[in-house]
Amino acid sequence: MKKFTTGVLIFVAVVMLGWIAFLIVQAISSEPDATVDEIVQEIEDSDDTPLLEDTFVTVHLEVRQASTMDAGWGDLENLVALADEYEVPLTIGFTPGWASYALEEGKLSEVRAWESSGHELAMHHHGISHASWDGYSNTPATSGRNDFLGDMEDLMVILNQLPASGQILTTGMTDEDVDFPEGILYNTTNRGDGAENPTASGSTFGSQGGPSPEDMISSPIAATYNGVDVIELGKMGFAIDHLSYDLTLEEIQERVYGAEEGQVLGLVLNDNTMEEHLDEAEDLFILLSAMGLDVQTVKDILVDVEL
Ligand SMILES: [Zn+2]
Repeated sequence: MKKFTTGVLIFVAVVMLGWIAFLIVQAISSEPDATVDEIVQEIEDSDDTPLLEDTFVTVHLEVRQASTMDAGWGDLENLVALADEYEVPLTIGFTPGWASYALEEGKLSEVRAWESSGHELAMHHHGISHASWDGYSNTPATSGRNDFLGDMEDLMVILNQLPASGQILTTGMTDEDVDFPEGILYNTTNRGDGAENPTASGSTFGSQGGPSPEDMISSPIAATYNGVDVIELGKMGFAIDHLSYDLTLEEIQERVYGAEEGQVLGLVLNDNTMEEHLDEAEDLFILLSAMGLDVQTVKDILVDVEL
């Protein structure tokens, strides 16, 4: 009987210890993310400086309903104003709907003013493979569809009216192998899988994975799409609700401090960031500044790169 009682007591003790351990693990794993102030303090208290310097922040202006464009434009103005406040030159990727809106609604002088003050007017394209196609494609089968708006030459006629030079230099897009336009020199990509799966086109950014933090830091590489030779950098979305991976400021900090000299940090914001998470964009700008990173547009980072 005594043996039995002891056995029960040991059993109860083990269960209780297990439960306590479980609660501790829960408490640790549900701990809130470090605030930007805490991270900045940690950076200031440390003597380390990252080897990585060059950083870009690109904005994907997504495909959206025409009826929401007025509100969207206001959100973009707020983001650009915030970026100016923190001296962050943005690489602003226009889908054709956004570019047409700017041209038709008298926003060209505003967009050119952004360009003069250091932001880059770039391209963003959702090809036919994307759930939210922008209506432009070089794929012959698309031309019979009633939502077909034109081929990629037609798209570039619209987009190239934005920069003062008459030529967009940077893109971030899907369907590169059929849709990649002539005249573009630089590509940014976030297809996931890090450097695990080189593609036939020479990209080391892998094929068709989800967004991956591995792609956030990269070295410039040469790639060829649709016969166009480009230099390519990786990127990763931040403060975008629909992404399957929620990138935190701490992870950005860790990866920047773990990066090598000459590597580049690339981050993506989009309509959702502008609408819902401008405070997170501000925290990001504060973090980039605290780490002493040199934020530039994609074309300015890559203009002197020869591969
Ligand atoms: Zn997009």
